[in-house]
Amino acid sequence: MKKFKKIYVEITNICNMNCSFCPKTERKPKFMSTDEFSTVLEKIKPHTDFIYLHVMGEPLLHPDIGEILDICSYYDIEANMTTNGTLIKEKGDIILNKKALRQINYSLHSFPANTVNFTNEEYLNNIFDFIKKTDIEGRIINCLRLWNMESSLFSENALTFKLLKENFNTDIKIMRTDRNGIKLKDRVFLQQDKVFFWPDIKREPEFFEGKCFGLKSHIGILVDGTVVPCCLDSGGNINLGNIFDENLSDILQSERALNIVEGFRRNKRVEHLCTTCGWNFNM
Ligand code: SF4
Ligand code: SF4
Repeated sequence: MKKFKKIYVEITNICNMNCSFCPKTERKPKFMSTDEFSTVLEKIKPHTDFIYLHVMGEPLLHPDIGEILDICSYYDIEANMTTNGTLIKEKGDIILNKKALRQINYSLHSFPANTVNFTNEEYLNNIFDFIKKTDIEGRIINCLRLWNMESSLFSENALTFKLLKENFNTDIKIMRTDRNGIKLKDRVFLQQDKVFFWPDIKREPEFFEGKCFGLKSHIGILVDGTVVPCCLDSGGNINLGNIFDENLSDILQSERALNIVEGFRRNKRVEHLCTTCGWNFNM
């Protein structure tokens, strides 16, 4: 039985933000129902013990996010969540004590990439207040992401660094772009990188060679059940099958999936989307 380090399960493709760097999606907007989510977990349980509740969309928008995490506990699957953080004040208490929740990644770079009716200070303080609550719980790992470490954006991050210093008593002098986390305190990390560009089927092929962890260490399952090889296929372009109609083992044995795996094994990218993907995998 093929085992993955993690599987990305998109519980919604709907988002309350409109980040300038986001590829968006033309897929039909949807929340995965709790019954559908249970079906997905039942089918993927033999293949992983660890999921990310995210591909596109904002997971905290899901009306049943608490129940979603309870279902993870039922299947003994640990959950990792990536959020833009804007709903943490409103929804934080629902997720705080959920045992399945292992880690939350906060995309702090989403704030300067939007026009919103609240201040950056409010936004950051809501997140930092929630992180303090997780300290009492002593279990959840918090990862603050600043993936906008371009020199042109340094000034936009000045307030973030000031508040980080005040809240975590840390003076961060190094501007890193290697995505390695800096520990701010127990279970709180800061991760910095440059702006990330998503692969895009509409772009001309550029990267013909290269390996990838897609289908090797992880796969993605989109909100309608479409199985894709990674978390970067925001449009569901590499459609390998549907988890609601087939078993995952059969989907992984499909000709398209096997071709992708064999291509990566030979250092070749066989899918158009992959030839537009500049992700550095360091494999
Ligand atoms: S928060 Fe994520 S899904 Fe939402 S617009 Fe920004 S990048 Fe896209
Ligand atoms: S090369 Fe990029 S698009 Fe292709 S499977 Fe890997 S991460 Fe996904």
